[in-house]
Amino acid sequence: MRIRGIQIIIDYSWFIIFFLVIYSMAEGYFPETHQQSTTIQYWLMGFVAATLLFASVLLHELAHSFVAIKQGILVNSIRLFIFGGVAQVSSEPKSGRNEFLIALAGPATSMALAFFFGGIYFFLLLTGMFPSAAAVAGYLVTANLMLALFNMIPGFPLDGGRILRAILWDRWNDMARATKVVSQIGNGFALFLIIFGVLQFLITQSLISGLWLIFIGLFLKQSATGSYQAVVLRQALAGVQIRQIMTENVVTVDWLTSVDELVHDYIYKHQFTTFPVFNLGEFIGMVSLEEVKSVSKELWGFKQVRDIMTPIESVPCLKPTDDATEALARMVSSDIGCMPVREEGRLIGIVSRRDIMNLFRIKSDLGAA
Ligand SMILES: [Zn+2]
Repeated sequence: MRIRGIQIIIDYSWFIIFFLVIYSMAEGYFPETHQQSTTIQYWLMGFVAATLLFASVLLHELAHSFVAIKQGILVNSIRLFIFGGVAQVSSEPKSGRNEFLIALAGPATSMALAFFFGGIYFFLLLTGMFPSAAAVAGYLVTANLMLALFNMIPGFPLDGGRILRAILWDRWNDMARATKVVSQIGNGFALFLIIFGVLQFLITQSLISGLWLIFIGLFLKQSATGSYQAVVLRQALAGVQIRQIMTENVVTVDWLTSVDELVHDYIYKHQFTTFPVFNLGEFIGMVSLEEVKSVSKELWGFKQVRDIMTPIESVPCLKPTDDATEALARMVSSDIGCMPVREEGRLIGIVSRRDIMNLFRIKSDLGAA
């Protein structure tokens, strides 16, 4: 599914949550709050409530994304998963002000949705029409309010953490320092959730709600740490061009080489997994271990590199003047290990994720990060 060019990815964990929401609505929440319906009606209400909750989370994420796009940030995809959603952006906001608006858009949308469903709720309540629809609307008011409030907790990576970071960033003019502070708050909050979850489990013996908090805590903890590292990495690599880190002496392979030879004389010998392919001095494509694996072993002697390679038109390439951070982001988001560097159609080098990470490690070691 695509909305304004943004790909909407639904994680499998969402289906578990979707069913859990329907179940807890149909068997718990609705029979308790709204007594005069049948079991089938409860399940139907649960389904409608879960669907609208899903739409609410999606709208929250879309709000972030639309504001980000307006600021000139490319949003590739939104992944909806067990605890909500995450928008995958190709770059970070340029200033605290930009980030402030992007972060605020989500909780503001959730608040607006809470008011919207609140309006419906009171209208139905006052007119006495569709009591079961009123119960669903009432649930969505609570859910959207919770979504807004939970996200406003000022720990990274929650929206509240981003808002606080934007303010500190603006004040200190130091993004890394601001990120460090809000990551620590985020970590602290995550630890609190984990401890609270364990206590809840020990005291009430309620496994579900305890585990729930522990999971959310672990997830937040991991993201808080990861986001901080990402910022440090970006800072260490700021201004580094691909030209400075690429490997220039590239081992290339002729397109008529057999797959068998490719495996023994290139992959085993040089221990690289990807090689540029040449035909009479012309760079025509790339061949990788993955493509070798797609050919059964008995055919290795009969197939040639040209049969399995990816032609140059389909190979994502870098320019020597490209930014190292952006190159790394591209490799990570499209899950590729290395990319060829081209200048005027000629291959002039190759850059791997490992090269970039090594540079980062060396820079950190020297205290230059
Ligand atoms: Zn949000």
